[in-house]
Amino acid sequence: MSEVVLACKGLRKIYRQGDSDVPVLLGVDLEVRVGERLAIVGASGSGKSTLLHLLGGLDATSGGAVFLMGSDLQAIADARRGQLRNRHLGFVYQFHHLLAEFTALENVAMPLYIRRLAKDQAEARAAEVLHEVGLGHRLRHTPAELSGGERQRAAIARALVTEPACVLADEPTGNLDRQTAASVFELMLALNRSRRTSFVIVTHDPALAGRAERILTLRDGCLHPAGG
Ligand code: ADP
Ligand code: MG
Repeated sequence: MSEVVLACKGLRKIYRQGDSDVPVLLGVDLEVRVGERLAIVGASGSGKSTLLHLLGGLDATSGGAVFLMGSDLQAIADARRGQLRNRHLGFVYQFHHLLAEFTALENVAMPLYIRRLAKDQAEARAAEVLHEVGLGHRLRHTPAELSGGERQRAAIARALVTEPACVLADEPTGNLDRQTAASVFELMLALNRSRRTSFVIVTHDPALAGRAERILTLRDGCLHPAGG
């Protein structure tokens, strides 16, 4: 268990819509190991985002359990769940969700400001990570002054600045042209190698998924080995 950062067992999610049930996850089992890079593929509507939300403790399950660093997320108090999530997980989304009125440096430093780290320390750490993702020359640019690929790099830097054990990325390259998508995907793999951060990357692009160590397909509410 110690080598597993994030896991779920028999995970179920059934949305309630009016009078009918929308079954989405029907018993998902998954173990994400330290330093692993895992790609999850699946048709649109197969439940990939739902799965990442549940793995991130961002939504209630309909059954089964999620374990983050060995703790059952459903069994602990909200405050503790929030702490664990903030400490051990990073999130990257299809749309960058950077704050428009702040610079790249301030956006990346934001999770550290929230942790009440001193401003100069937070910004020094943020600058380091921005250098690491190839944005050392864009520290003072606002999101509107960055390209699409640069914005996703900044979002990745923001996810990594707290040194999480695992980054959950939901179609992080879905909004980018092919070449930029490939370079952002490669960046995540490189960061995985240099930092041993685990990455769970949802993508609809099989070519990108093929660059990961392990590929799982979400189909009929369950995860299957790719091709299986
Ligand atoms: P994916 O990310 O693989 O495209 P999602 O996880 O977003 O799929 O959605 C899976 C299914 O669950 C879809 O059929 C979607 O319509 C449904 N769904 C998602 N969120 C809700 C919700 N809040 N209420 C009802 N149905 C939902
Ligand atoms: Mg989705």
